[in-house]
Amino acid sequence: MTAKAETDGVIITKLDELLNWARSSSLWPMSFGLACCAIEFMDAQSGNFDLERMGVFPRPSPRQSDVMIVAGTVTFKMAERIKKLYEQMPEPRYVISMGSCSNCGGPYWQHGYHVVKGVDQIIPVDVYIQGCPPRPEALIGGILELQALIKKEKQADR
Ligand code: SF4
Repeated sequence: MTAKAETDGVIITKLDELLNWARSSSLWPMSFGLACCAIEFMDAQSGNFDLERMGVFPRPSPRQSDVMIVAGTVTFKMAERIKKLYEQMPEPRYVISMGSCSNCGGPYWQHGYHVVKGVDQIIPVDVYIQGCPPRPEALIGGILELQALIKKEKQADR
């Protein structure tokens, strides 16, 4: 955030920059996983990786979350629920697609009759993370990418 500190302790900044700084520094993902990628998502929440130092604090409810991390295989049976959960999240809301299954169907892309070939066919995705499964380091990279996108947002465009 660009800010100018005056001698009397007043900080001057743009509203966009202040809101984007606050939003990007406190991403609260909804904690739910769909398949094996979720194991890496859980690992990322361990003390080894310490997501809380980045302001990432998983929540159990969509109403308290502003980012959905779709970690795993999106089946047609689950698709409707994902959409419903997404719609229950307050604006502004973001989506990270974690892993090949969520990105494009993964190993099921050709013959997986039960698998949606990309969660972006159901909800809009902001960041895609490659891998089968992606390691926690890759998830952290995706979170940093999302933070960078949020910092460029303009309220007038919303
Ligand atoms: S991308 Fe690989 S690790 Fe992740 S859910 Fe699909 S099969 Fe499992």
